Formats: sequence, C-alpha cells, structure tokens
Amino acid sequence: MVASYEDRLWNQKIDTIVNKCDMISDRITEAGFQFNDVNRTLETEVEQFASLLEGRIMVVDHNYRIVKDTFGVEDNRYLMTEDVIKTMSGESIQPTTIDQQYMEAFYPVKDGSGEKINGVICVIASCQDITDMGNYMEDQRSRLSTLIIIVSVALSFGVSVFMTRKFKVLNRSVRYIAAGHTDEQIKVVGFTEMKETASAFNDILAKMQMIEDSRQEFVSNVSHELKTPITSIKVLAESLLMQPDTDASLYREFMGDIVEEIDRENKIITDLLSLVKMDKKVAKMNIEAVNINELVEGIIKRLNPIAKKRNIEIGFEPFRPVIAEIDEVKLSLAISNLVENAIKYNNDNGWVHVYLNADHKFFYVKIEDNGEGISQEHQDHIFERFYRVDKARSRETGGTGLGLAITREVALLHKGAIRVQSNPGEGTTFTMRIPLTYTS
Ligand code: ADP
Repeated sequence: MVASYEDRLWNQKIDTIVNKCDMISDRITEAGFQFNDVNRTLETEVEQFASLLEGRIMVVDHNYRIVKDTFGVEDNRYLMTEDVIKTMSGESIQPTTIDQQYMEAFYPVKDGSGEKINGVICVIASCQDITDMGNYMEDQRSRLSTLIIIVSVALSFGVSVFMTRKFKVLNRSVRYIAAGHTDEQIKVVGFTEMKETASAFNDILAKMQMIEDSRQEFVSNVSHELKTPITSIKVLAESLLMQPDTDASLYREFMGDIVEEIDRENKIITDLLSLVKMDKKVAKMNIEAVNINELVEGIIKRLNPIAKKRNIEIGFEPFRPVIAEIDEVKLSLAISNLVENAIKYNNDNGWVHVYLNADHKFFYVKIEDNGEGISQEHQDHIFERFYRVDKARSRETGGTGLGLAITREVALLHKGAIRVQSNPGEGTTFTMRIPLTYTS
C-alpha cells in the first residue's frame, strides 16, 4: 500500500512537471530564448516553477548554451550532457531519481510549428516531500501493525480466558459426576461445540443410568428367584421339625418337595451361569463346521420322551442339508430352549413342528407349536431376564424365566437374530436366523 501510494505521488509529480514544462516551452519559444527585462514575466514564471519544485531549472538553447539557470551560477555556460544531447535530437528521456532525493527530467523546447527542437528545459526537482510522505506512511504502517498485534494478542487472551472459564465449569461438572453423582446432568454451557460435547456426555450418562437400573433390577430379581426355593425348603423343614412324631410317609412327601425345590434352585443357578457365560465380553466361542440337520434331530430325539408324556407330537422338516460355522454347545442350548418351551407351553395332544432352511447367507430354524400362544403385550418382554407370562404356570413347569434371554444372547453371539410371532390360543412360532459363516 505504501509503495503504491509513493508511485502515485511520483506520477503526479512527473505529470505536474510535464504540464508546466509544456506551458513554459511555448513561452520560451515566443520569447526567442531571451531572458531579459522585456520578458520579465517569463523569468518570474520559471523562477516560481523552480521554487515550487524546490529545485533548479536550466534552459538550454540550440547551441547548448544555458540561457537561464534559476540558481544563477551556470548562466551562459554550455551544457552538453548525454541526456541534453539526446533530448535535443528528439529522443524522449524518462525522468530519473538521484539518491531518492532529486528527480531529473528533460523537456524539449520546440519551434512555433512544433517540429524542430530549439532547446531543452532541464528540471531538477526535490523529492523530499515524497520521501517524507513515504516515511510517514511507513511509520503509520508499523504503528498500525503494532496496534493490530497488541489487539490480536489481547483478543486471543480474552477468548482463551473465556473458553478456559467455560471449560472449567464443564470440567467441574464432569468431575462431580465422576465422583459418583451419576444421576446428575452435566451443565450445558459455552460455545456450540462445548454444548454439543456436554449434551453427548449427558446422553452417555442417561445410557449408563439405564444400564445401572437394569443391573440393579437384575440383581434384585436374582436374589428374589434364589430366595424363593430356599424359603420353601425352610418352611418344609421347619414344619417337619415342629411335629416330632410325624409318620414316615409325610416325611417322605416333604423330603420329596425339598428335593424338588433344590432341583429348582440348581436349575436357576445353572441358567444364570449359562447367561453369564453368554456375556459378550467373556463368551469364548468354539466355532466349528456343524451339520445343523443332525444337531436339530439330536435335540428332538432327546426331548421326545418329555413330549410323549403329554402326547405332543414333534415333527422335523429340513428343507435342505445345512452345514454352518457355529458354537455347537451354545446353539444346542438355544434350540433346546425353544423346543422345550414349545412343549411346555403346549396343550396335551398338541404338536410342535421344527423347520430348517437356508439361503446363501443364513440358515433358519423355525419352531412352531399350536399351544397357548403369547399376547402382543407379553411378546415385547419375553426375551427379558426372569420375564414370565404366568409366574405360577412357569414355576409348575420348572421355568426360570431365563430360557429365552439365553437363546437371544446365543443368537446375538452368532451375529444372528430371533423373532417371535404368536396368536393367543392358536400357537407360537419362533424363528432364529444364524449366518452360515461365523464372523468375529
Ligand atoms: P421360562 O423358563 O419361564 O420358560 P423363558 O424365557 O423360556 O422362561 O420364556 C419366557 C416366557 O415366555 C415363558 O414364561 C412363557 O410364558 C413364554 N413362552 C415362551 N415360549 C413360549 C411358547 N412356545 N408358547 C407360549 N408361551 C411361551
């Protein structure tokens, strides 16, 4: 900016010199290069021009004789410098500067017709004003730069103090929550990004709270489930103790009940352990290629005697041979749970159909029964731990409410899925979809 401003001043100065020289040269021609009392006004004009430029003007005639020197020291001497000779011969000379202090310019004095050059006006003009202006501007520029630097530093400092303060608030909030106040929320303060971060934290906290709630519910359910058989055992044992001379048959009956309760306790513990083992973080998958047709056939064979007791018929319809990469123990448990449920929650003389099918990616095990069915309201919860539609009925049949939770975990561990479709009074269909190839 400073340089371009200086350039402009230079050009302005050159324009002034050229215009003035243009005017004076005509007057000099008119006066026939005579600077005497008759042409006093011309002399004054030249003198004024020189003083305006704070410089010196010399007028040279066609003999290279100085007819006018405003310094009055070179009058009548001869000036035959290269630039003067060139100007005299019609060449145009660009104005030049000397030490950035002075400007030297040469202007031809033409005759009346404007064709012949009769002399030269040599102008030496001071450039001090331009240099001073340049220096002044440079000075202003550095002052402005300093000011901008100071303002920027102050501004950044202010912004950083502002941000740090907001961060401190956020930090305090996070530390407070980290200290155990997980039911609190982080204060949403500061600029947009900080607010977004705080909201994201709050979302995580909400999820953590949900996990914590379900964990607590699970623990209380476990305690309750484990206590129930123990309470029954205690009641049975105490009533025997309170009647010292009870006959042996009653003893036998009560002892039978106690054994049943112990079996039940055992089943709950076994199911719980299975569920714990299914935990994604600890579950070790023993993956191998297994013939699913044989696996399902084996399960049906094992459960057939239970079904026969209530005259329930189990049918197996494989659509094709299926070999898949699975954890045999875990998947057997899952399918067994489904077939067992289809028997347990069936009516006497009912039926259970097991279908096996596959496409290029998955295989599907479908277990269909014509039992009591599950209403829509319960369908949404049956995969939850300890959820039972009819507690008393489930207890009767030896259910723990963990079977479907285990089955769903197994499906998820295999990157598969399970879904239920049921109409109360008509029957239930569970479909399990498992990938043919296992990906960890
Ligand atoms: P449980 O040990 O009680 O059988 P599950 O987790 O296996 O627990 O099943 C949860 C509940 O879902 C059962 O209590 C039962 O009411 C219902 N249920 C599961 N399978 C069937 C089915 N095939 N037909 C009807 N109800 C079923």
